[in-house]
Amino acid sequence: MATTDIRSLTPEQLAEQLKERGYPAFRARQVLQWLDRGVTDFQQMNNLPLSLREELAALYTVPGVAIARKLTSAIDGTVKYLFRLDDGETVESVLMQYKHGWSQCLSTQVGCKMGCTFCATGMGGFIRNLSAAEMLGQIEAAQRDAGVRVSSIVLMGMGEPLDNYEQVVRFLRALGEEGGVHIGMRHISLSTCGLVDGIRRLKEEKIPLTLSISLHAPNDQIRSRTMPVNRRWPIAELLDACREYIDATGRRVSFEYAMIDGVNDTDACAEELARRLQGMLCHVNLIPVNAVEGKAQKRSNPRRIQAFSDILQKKGINVTVRRTLGADINASCGQLRRQQDQQENRKEALP
Ligand code: SAH
Ligand code: SF4
Repeated sequence: MATTDIRSLTPEQLAEQLKERGYPAFRARQVLQWLDRGVTDFQQMNNLPLSLREELAALYTVPGVAIARKLTSAIDGTVKYLFRLDDGETVESVLMQYKHGWSQCLSTQVGCKMGCTFCATGMGGFIRNLSAAEMLGQIEAAQRDAGVRVSSIVLMGMGEPLDNYEQVVRFLRALGEEGGVHIGMRHISLSTCGLVDGIRRLKEEKIPLTLSISLHAPNDQIRSRTMPVNRRWPIAELLDACREYIDATGRRVSFEYAMIDGVNDTDACAEELARRLQGMLCHVNLIPVNAVEGKAQKRSNPRRIQAFSDILQKKGINVTVRRTLGADINASCGQLRRQQDQQENRKEALP
């Protein structure tokens, strides 16, 4: 019998199909509640009659997330997964151990439209959005494989979360629910390249997550060169949206700043950044930029990063230099998928 992806149906369509089989409308709601909590095995939906569980299993599939490749760091135990989705597309995810527990970095899209020049994900263009179920599925697959419980999530994998707004918010709400994958909102960070309309929408959702902004430059001239999104929403407008977000949620915003040798790492850049962030409830995270195959960018040297950090600190800006985890497995996202694509292309090119 042909099976349908249950997520491709609207709630009304599912209710209609179950009604045709003699089940009342609330059964469809129960099924959707389980799916939203990340339970994808119909047999585990223990408030449904057995007969319905069997019919569901025969009629529908739930989008799956399977491990295609896995790399474990010999240095710090960081695990990087390449997950294969039902349609054969792949996304990356990284599992990291911190003092307070396990944290997982998730992908929200296959590829990305934003085209930031330093980013491996951006190079391959955009393919499609992930569904909320596929985001939950990444957590379940990693937890099952590693035998650990993930206690915090960062949406910093492949893709721009605010460019997949509906599914990301649906995913965030599902995380807050009891049962299934349950992680408190205070342990979630969402990273964006600065889609101002999305930030303004998110502020209204009353989801107390940590907003992280990929800033990477102190002025429009530098930022527009490396991040095309800046031409649509320049820094002043982005920082206005951040201030509104802080006012509405009372939460500190985090700014990511990848240090690229000779591009954005001078003392003058640090001074300008400090001026712009003066008085804001925020935190700056300096990250030595990761090398990406085919790109000339070089990371700033550690002394330069320290000098930059010192200037920010002197001006009263909260700043940390991010510890690099999984250095031996290229743990930043986008690169494993590219390798896989290139291998597959090579295979296809063989006679
Ligand atoms: N699209 C979102 C989230 C995914 S990217 C965003 O841009 O925020 C996650 C983080 O990795 C972002 O801060 C991004 O700017 C950063 N990043 C991308 N490529 C990088 C590289 N080569 N080195 C260091 N950080 C990088
Ligand atoms: Fe997309 Fe983020 Fe990469 Fe920019 S840095 S191309 S927004 S994934």
